[in-house]
Amino acid sequence: MKIADLFKVEGYGVVVTGGASGLGLAYAEALAENGARVTLLDVDGERLSAECARLTGLGYDVSGTIVDVRSSTSVDAAIDAAAARYGRLDVVFANAGVDSGPGFLSSWVGDQRPRNPDGAIENYTDERWNRVIDINLSGVFRTARVAARHMKAQGSGRIIITSSVASFQCEPAIGSAYMAAKAASVHLMHMLALELAAYQVTVNAIAPGFFATNIGGGHAKSPVVQAAMAKVLPMHRVGFGDDIKGLALFLASPASSYVTGQEIAIDGGWTLGAAD
Ligand code: NAD
Repeated sequence: MKIADLFKVEGYGVVVTGGASGLGLAYAEALAENGARVTLLDVDGERLSAECARLTGLGYDVSGTIVDVRSSTSVDAAIDAAAARYGRLDVVFANAGVDSGPGFLSSWVGDQRPRNPDGAIENYTDERWNRVIDINLSGVFRTARVAARHMKAQGSGRIIITSSVASFQCEPAIGSAYMAAKAASVHLMHMLALELAAYQVTVNAIAPGFFATNIGGGHAKSPVVQAAMAKVLPMHRVGFGDDIKGLALFLASPASSYVTGQEIAIDGGWTLGAAD
């Protein structure tokens, strides 16, 4: 067997939550470009139809279903339907997530990072906390649960969670609920990996650093923010969708068949510390 064959995902049945934008869309492109059949689940119907039309126009086998990962019923129904359509379920990316609004500091970088009362713990509302936990943590649980039903029975599969470097490094510009949800999603990933290993189902997490996506209203796409971040990132640039495709393909393909329970950071060296 040629080493390149280890990365083959042709014909795979794949589901990506939060697949209409940003990193989820990059995962979908990586898999679809390599011959997988991909279902995008997303709460944003407009973006979902636009991206499905664009990707099918490129000749890829991609479809979309409007799903809010806060609803177990709709997550179950959409993933059951994808598995039935494909006759198999090889890879599920539990990726949908939201920013939690400002943290206790009001900017990402810079000499002036004033305290922000809205993000301070004493003012943190239940509504804000519950929304982030419901999407970024319970959404992962709901997605992984239905994926496991199919993959365990099939005796194979890949569940890939999008965590964040915020799962182990505090980021004061993002609210506390985000840190808690991401850290918990990683330990959930560890537990699921342990439980499902005997069924040849692997469970891993991708921990992105700072990527230019639409999260938080698209602040990471601002050239000013990117230039400021580039100063503190050791590689002196933010991440883009194409940067994450290789890791997504590795974790989704036979190349990673003996890797489970791992969180892999992809952050241009951000979490190593300050360089020059
Ligand atoms: P994005 O906003 O570009 O994409 C997220 C997608 O998830 C959107 O299409 C959105 O509509 C969808 N979504 C949001 N809530 C949903 C819900 N309740 N149900 C279904 N879909 C929903 O953002 P992104 O940066 O690509 O975020 C993807 C994941 O990556 C998130 O889990 C995020 O926390 C994580 N992440 C992003 C960064 C970054 O720098 N962009 C860094 C670390 C982790």
